[in-house]
Amino acid sequence: MTGRVAVVTGGTRGIGGAISEALAKNGYQVAANYVGSTDRAKSFQERTGIATFRFDVGDFEASREGVKRIEQELGPVEVLVNNAGITRDGTLHKMSFENWDEVIRTNLTSCFNMCRHVIEGMRDRKFGRIVNIGSVNGQAGQYGQVNYAAAKSGIHGFTKALAQEGAKVNVTVNAVAPGYVNTEMVRAVPDKVLEKIIARIPVGRLGETDDIVRAVLFLVADDADFMTGSTMSVNGGQHMY
Ligand code: NDP
Repeated sequence: MTGRVAVVTGGTRGIGGAISEALAKNGYQVAANYVGSTDRAKSFQERTGIATFRFDVGDFEASREGVKRIEQELGPVEVLVNNAGITRDGTLHKMSFENWDEVIRTNLTSCFNMCRHVIEGMRDRKFGRIVNIGSVNGQAGQYGQVNYAAAKSGIHGFTKALAQEGAKVNVTVNAVAPGYVNTEMVRAVPDKVLEKIIARIPVGRLGETDDIVRAVLFLVADDADFMTGSTMSVNGGQHMY
């Protein structure tokens, strides 16, 4: 049992919820962050016993306050999973600035915000495990998602740069790039589009949250210290990168 303090952003439902639960089962002290779904976060906390913390990871000062509250309650953050993400799809010629900006802020700037507030402690203590959740659509691009693809692609560059900065002090930084996973985000895609997507996945199905959890558990382990700056693609063979 590790007892290490782990923060999962967007950690009360979907992929993040599954990651929070798996980390807790593996002995981590988990802080699950969320932003708007308070009732769901409350029932998640009641069902799992995992502490939940409400703040907007796209907001630098709110993230600072959030990390401070987590550290006061649980202790120094040793593991960070940047999972929070949104989509605001549309072709570029119809996309508003707001839909561009909100996706970049929530999906990419959040990684800066959260990492910035935990990195000094990790460096001082000479231990840190950071996992950023990217996307197959950041690797391959996707029609109607210039905002999302740019943010997710940015995550992959961010990961490799920060990995170089952390390498000497045992702070590893990796990304997981899921393919299409059976969560609300994907269930919001129209059936006809989803059928076409599944037809392009060699294993012939959507991913399940547990498929992503496995990769994250591997990367956050204490002895995964020789793995840094990498992206694990978990996509059923949809895109071989
Ligand atoms: P969901 O839509 O199911 O959940 C998103 C989570 O992010 C929610 O917990 C939500 O909080 C949280 N969140 C959103 N905005 C903020 C914010 N500003 N501050 C804090 N938390 C926020 O998403 P998924 O589980 O499907 O996706 C999780 C991650 O995986 C995302 O980064 C997504 O881009 C990525 N991904 C998903 C794929 C998929 O097929 N599902 C494929 C590839 C990547 P709240 O509950 O309060 O709304």
